[in-house]
Amino acid sequence: MTNISTLLNSRKAALGTKHKKEQVIAPLFMKELGIEVLVPTDLDTDKFGTFTLDKERPANQKETAIIKAKAAMELLNLDLGIASEGTFGPHPAAPFGITNTEIVVFIDNKLGLEIFGGHVEIVSYAQNTTANNLEEVLEFADNINFPKHGIVIRSSEKKYKNMVKGIVTKDNLIEIATNYLEKYKSIWLETDFRAHVNKSRMKNIEVATKDLIENIKRLCPSCNTPGFHRISPKPGLPCEQCGRLTDIPLYDVYECDKCKFTQDVIFPHQKKTAYAGYCDYCNPSYKT
Ligand SMILES: [Zn+2]
Ligand SMILES: [Zn+2]
Repeated sequence: MTNISTLLNSRKAALGTKHKKEQVIAPLFMKELGIEVLVPTDLDTDKFGTFTLDKERPANQKETAIIKAKAAMELLNLDLGIASEGTFGPHPAAPFGITNTEIVVFIDNKLGLEIFGGHVEIVSYAQNTTANNLEEVLEFADNINFPKHGIVIRSSEKKYKNMVKGIVTKDNLIEIATNYLEKYKSIWLETDFRAHVNKSRMKNIEVATKDLIENIKRLCPSCNTPGFHRISPKPGLPCEQCGRLTDIPLYDVYECDKCKFTQDVIFPHQKKTAYAGYCDYCNPSYKT
């Protein structure tokens, strides 16, 4: 029987970040898997896309994470790599909410593994605005819960020259905003999403890393490869009141990328019936 610690313990992994993500990722990998996480000093991850959009992402979220991890592995000449990639966008079920989706990838070139973890959260701090005076600047800071979340200032939305990122103190905010208001009359403000200046996002990267480690530790029951992960739930949990089948999952489905073995796990939320509020029959207003 394969043991996860004989596969991974005492190995070293390269983490592709320049925004201090090692603060949350490294301790978890050491504690849970015995893997030492190292960060290359000369990897500029901004070339793989920025939240301020002055540099576009080269590929989709998952592929960009893989590119970053591989770049770090190459620089440190290691066969294990880790990187995270975050996005902010509208939420399909919450029209006024912005969703922060974090994914973290773990690559093992020796064992031929690519394993993902993730976390999704609806957030209220993802905002931007044009400000015409210092009062409006301070109001924006209040709205986004500054300085827990940093601020980016530039002259206008699409003008990336003379942009100041990473503002995290009130003195600094007032000084730069006053300066820019004098120069440009109105200025563009947005939340800084980079992990080292955004405590909420750093927390979500930590949660996504925990999900990743769970996935790494889960061995395929058929071939013993790490990374046996959930792919899609199957609906059909019966209503607690009438017994009709609801859209709530009855099974979680797990799959191994290596041998394609799948397994259905019944009652994924440890409940054998669904709340009647989720039943089309008992609660006809559900889904309308
Ligand atoms: Zn397998
Ligand atoms: Zn019902």
